[in-house]
Amino acid sequence: MTRRGLVVGNWKMNLDYVEAVHLTQQLVTLLRAQAPASVDVVVAPPFVDLRSVTSVVEAERADIEVAAQHVSHRERGAFTGEVSLDMLTRLGVSWVIVGHSERRTLFHMDDDVVRETTRAALARRVRPIVCVGEDLAVRDGDDPEAFVTAQVGAALAGIGADPDAVVVAYEPIWAIGSGRSASAEQVRAMTVAIRRALAAHGLEGSRVLYGGSVTADNAGTLVDDGAVDGFLVGGASLKADSFHGIVRAVDDCYAGRR
Ligand code: PEP
Repeated sequence: MTRRGLVVGNWKMNLDYVEAVHLTQQLVTLLRAQAPASVDVVVAPPFVDLRSVTSVVEAERADIEVAAQHVSHRERGAFTGEVSLDMLTRLGVSWVIVGHSERRTLFHMDDDVVRETTRAALARRVRPIVCVGEDLAVRDGDDPEAFVTAQVGAALAGIGADPDAVVVAYEPIWAIGSGRSASAEQVRAMTVAIRRALAAHGLEGSRVLYGGSVTADNAGTLVDDGAVDGFLVGGASLKADSFHGIVRAVDDCYAGRR
């Protein structure tokens, strides 16, 4: 086992900058009291909270990295409402979530834009967390693995990247925010298929996360039996103790393998 675990909290459009600072400080305290040995921790606040959160992390010298939830693949110019990669790196942001299903379905982000954004992020040394996942109709169809691996292929086509720099998050849309996680068997089957697709792009060492109604209670089983490297967490990342509980559960799994 050479890959470290990874747990990413996606705060979505929650928490103003005061609340974001408070949550970050609580997290710093918990992580300091019980530091994970083998798990990297990343939080993804809304754009307007980013500088406040990176300031706390820097001041506390905390082992937390900061992600944006989205970024433009364009460099600069007349793109009202968009934010560039250079703007993010100036704020101390080192990761970005790319192609979350909410961006794909609500804001029409298609595979081409996902690929361009992934490519642009890598060029700026910002690590992309590329989100893929099927809706319920595809899940109930013949071959959900084929649908998801096609999304992986579309996002990574022509990208010669360091495997460490790329993360794929498998997030079945029907499991997000539903309280109904995918089963460990479903996650394992998809993870195997995604790793095969990654290998076809020279990325067999990249980490694969699962996202969708993860809690501290189901995290251990999903890592051990689902064969993922960690999680992209929505709802449970908004409270320091539940997010830290997931980090602990993943770290415990890794401890068992050391
Ligand atoms: C997400 O939206 O990335 C997510 C995984 O949400 P939740 O954990 O709330 O299902």
